[in-house]
Amino acid sequence: MPELFIVATPIGNLQDISSRALEALKRVDFILCEDTRVSQKLLNHFGISKPLMSYHQHSGPAKIESILALLKQGKNLALISDAGTPGISDPGNKLIDLAIKQLNDLTIVPIPGPSALTAAASVAGCPMDKFLFMGFPPHKRKRKKFFQEALKSKYPVIIYESCHRILKTLRELRELGSGLELVVCRELTKKFETIYRGIIDKVIEKIEKDKTKGEFVVIIKKNGKEKGK
Ligand code: SAM
Repeated sequence: MPELFIVATPIGNLQDISSRALEALKRVDFILCEDTRVSQKLLNHFGISKPLMSYHQHSGPAKIESILALLKQGKNLALISDAGTPGISDPGNKLIDLAIKQLNDLTIVPIPGPSALTAAASVAGCPMDKFLFMGFPPHKRKRKKFFQEALKSKYPVIIYESCHRILKTLRELRELGSGLELVVCRELTKKFETIYRGIIDKVIEKIEKDKTKGEFVVIIKKNGKEKGK
């Protein structure tokens, strides 16, 4: 029976890899990854030598068919992303869906571990028993609608953002909701890990002063004092 392991990998600190993740990566016949150069570095670090196959958000039907063909031949595969947990704003779900439809005897095994989403939620400092995860804001159209939806939520909202857009996103959020209270996590588990907390004006000021390099998770806390437009 073929197995497809969905393996979480570190979001920065390589010590966060789990022993189950390493075991799975050593055990499979092929590793599917987004960027073979990024994943090769990870495998080299842990002394794992395995054939890598690229599978990313732009992979077309032919690539997916070739992956499914390997599973049909009884090969075991692991899917990893550049960092964190596959399927969370990362490729994975389309492949899993097709694999389930085409292979009756396939076992899909999650190997849980690091994710920027759960790492940020764990340090939010507000009730996170319910929250809304919205992934990345769209780059161009429908941004305002995206932020309005975020502000309408009864629960804390978590969004992902890159260094190129973090200030643009925070400024647009401020326009729609003054008084928002945020937790902005930058470079989690890495050397320059920083957690900015407070009212949106202050957080923007601090991030403007610091260099906005790195990767960000924004949590919009619900304090009842924010004023939405
Ligand atoms: N699947 C991944 C996960 O489980 O964390 C997320 C992949 S998504 C393409 C990449 C985004 O996750 C980044 O742009 C950033 O918003 C967030 N992210 C990833 N690593 C991070 C880190 N070390 N610190 C803060 N945010 C991070």
